[in-house]
Amino acid sequence: MCDGVNTLLLKDVRIVDADHQLVGDILIRDGSIWALGRKLPAPRGVPVLQGEGRTALPAFVDLHAHFRDPGFPEKEDLLSGARAAAHGGFTCVSLMPNTDPVCDSPEVARYMLERAREIGLVEVYPVGAITVDLRGEELSPLEALAPWVWAFSDDGKGVEDHELMLRACRKAAALERTVYPHCEFGGLADRGLSQELMVGRDLWLCRRTGCRLHLAHISTPGGLELVSLAKERGLPVSCEVTPHHLCLTREEGDYPVNPPLPERETREALVKALKGGTIDAIATDHAPHTPPDKAAGAPGISGIELAFSLLYTRLVAPGTISLPELSRYLSLGPARILGLRKGLIRVGYDADLVLFSDEEFTAGEDFFYSKSANTPLLGARLSGRVWATLHRGEVIYLDGAVKGRDFRDHREVIRGG
Ligand SMILES: [Zn+2]
Repeated sequence: MCDGVNTLLLKDVRIVDADHQLVGDILIRDGSIWALGRKLPAPRGVPVLQGEGRTALPAFVDLHAHFRDPGFPEKEDLLSGARAAAHGGFTCVSLMPNTDPVCDSPEVARYMLERAREIGLVEVYPVGAITVDLRGEELSPLEALAPWVWAFSDDGKGVEDHELMLRACRKAAALERTVYPHCEFGGLADRGLSQELMVGRDLWLCRRTGCRLHLAHISTPGGLELVSLAKERGLPVSCEVTPHHLCLTREEGDYPVNPPLPERETREALVKALKGGTIDAIATDHAPHTPPDKAAGAPGISGIELAFSLLYTRLVAPGTISLPELSRYLSLGPARILGLRKGLIRVGYDADLVLFSDEEFTAGEDFFYSKSANTPLLGARLSGRVWATLHRGEVIYLDGAVKGRDFRDHREVIRGG
């Protein structure tokens, strides 16, 4: 039946997703998972990618990344960001609006979508700004933005004006778009409390207006407690935590990031919450900065390329969470929030896959496809290294090379069956 067109057979892999594990093969056709099983026969002429015992996961979906394009090409652009995503095992990225110009108009969102399509590596899902120029003073043209964005956010700061936020939630509910707040009131020395207060307000606005709410980078147990209560009440709310809040602590080094890194006890509470149903997704908050910007105190971690390895090393390898649990947070949970048929290795799902090995490695400056290597993990010893990333059946990263001009000829690995 198969004629070798748009088909690929992944042989000899350990297949893991949020729901099941097996050892076998994956047959991909026309961008979808066509068959799964042990010792699938290789149809004539179909290329084979030998997994050699590596583990296949659904590719990762990042709800929260900053690709800095348009506006800050010295930090990142859509090409370098897409290459970094592919290297990190991500095939879908939701991009925050704090670009220059800000994504508060359909033109900017359309530019991101068109440029991403031209690049052809990963899928991009823009987030539109809640307020014009992220100034927190007047609403962006949400109706005009809605066809191009899945959510509205002023990520980087909270919308302090209650009346404005109420109107944003009402409009978003009518437009069937998600409100994606960065919860933090200014002017409070206790950063945790400032997050919890705004989480409480926004949950109440969600209850009042019926809008869908997705809360960015929750970093306090109190914030999670409020989300948990809201879920018990059946509110349409979801939330994310970042790899760095789950894996790093201030005691190890107070790397500037917003919200700030947790103390050890807080980190433990966040990790514990991964066992309950409160957290829906782990999102990287990939925030590339140049060395001068970082030296001047710009908060953020260039995180999309090491997110999986960090989580694997710190949480899965020691047995704190299982690999299926990690897969739920990196793939299935965020895919569901975006409404995608991705995030599981199932017949009929998109063939968005990651192959990784347990290999230990050290990430030096030359590891990164991102233009920025601002991360406290430079030089750290990690395991769980992405070996290949497939987007709709197409190999976009393989063993040290991202698809593009310098893509290594990989016919040694993929051969005619
Ligand atoms: Zn952010």
